[in-house]
Amino acid sequence: MRTYRRAPVEFVRGEGALLWDVEGREYLDFLAGISVCSVGHCNPEVVEAVREQAGRLTHTSNLFYTEPMVRLAERLSTTSLGGRVFFANSGAEANECAIKIARKHAHRRGIAAPEVVSFERDFHGRTYGALAATPKLAENEALGPMLPGFRAVPFDDTAALREAVGEGTAAVLIETIQGESGIYPLSDETLLAAREACDEVGALLIFDEIQTGMGRTGSLWAYEQTPVRPDVLTSAKALGGGMPIGACITGPAAAEVLEPGDHGSTFAGGPVVSAAALAVLEIVDDPALLRRVRELGADLRERLLASDGVREVRGRGLMLGVGLEPEIDAAALGEELLERGLIVNVPEPGTLRLLPPLTVEPAQIERAAATIAAALLSFLGR
Ligand code: PLP
Repeated sequence: MRTYRRAPVEFVRGEGALLWDVEGREYLDFLAGISVCSVGHCNPEVVEAVREQAGRLTHTSNLFYTEPMVRLAERLSTTSLGGRVFFANSGAEANECAIKIARKHAHRRGIAAPEVVSFERDFHGRTYGALAATPKLAENEALGPMLPGFRAVPFDDTAALREAVGEGTAAVLIETIQGESGIYPLSDETLLAAREACDEVGALLIFDEIQTGMGRTGSLWAYEQTPVRPDVLTSAKALGGGMPIGACITGPAAAEVLEPGDHGSTFAGGPVVSAAALAVLEIVDDPALLRRVRELGADLRERLLASDGVREVRGRGLMLGVGLEPEIDAAALGEELLERGLIVNVPEPGTLRLLPPLTVEPAQIERAAATIAAALLSFLGR
């Protein structure tokens, strides 16, 4: 269906940070399938894990145990909040699980009509629960009626958040750095206020780390670089290195909320996607790689800030939003960059979003920054 406006390019092959189209033309990919191919296209270790597992056992359903899923759950839990993990097939589905946990947890606290609080411009997905927590898209009346029990407060407005969280709050569900809306980090002050407000009323703090997680910001999880630890976190995108998998990971407070019958999925956490995710974690959960992400991110930021036409650079690690001078048409710039062989994304007017693979080479960072600088100069008529 025509749910996407696609660029006029057909890709046929990928390797590392490079893609080739059907005509054999090479592109440098600074979008990585929207932060999915974080260990690069066709990473040999991920390919081998998938190949090996696909030849041994591909599916049993969740009525049985399989080793890759158990190992993956253990690894996700021990590297984050220490509780239980529910596997899903996408980011939106991981958030559906988190919303279910929040509502059931609230009912146990005696709340009849639990409410989930998010920030304006948050993006949590397109299924009806996740959509209701995605204020901008939830305004689309043609898709209504929306699920009740969701409230949005202005972005990073600490006072408004404190005011919104009360006895009826099931959870605060937020992105620590908004991704889809253009790379906008929340302040530590607001994150601390969210933690405090949730603790005061017994609500759960849920971090959607679907875009920020898996090393993207230079730590395995973005929350590690904040003063706050959530009760639940959701992951997807880069988790499977290109294979579709999501996960809802709990801390101890939320680990036992869902019981048999409350939730499920036929495909989720299957052996092949789990084997892929284990291979990805083996690469990403490595202090040397995470340091490299921070260093390359700092280098890219500096190069971009030195370019004419760049107003600011937002974000952390290799999750960067480039704020452009107002006279520059970002959509046209994105098209021009594609023409010049560089793939970026334009999430809003005035912003380029850069999400290169975490395994990108320093020379590729230099090439991307030089391509952007040259395109900007041509746009500024210099
Ligand atoms: N949450 C965040 C922060 C996202 O960036 C996205 C996707 O862009 C989602 C949720 C939804 O993930 P999916 O498209 O896999 O359902």
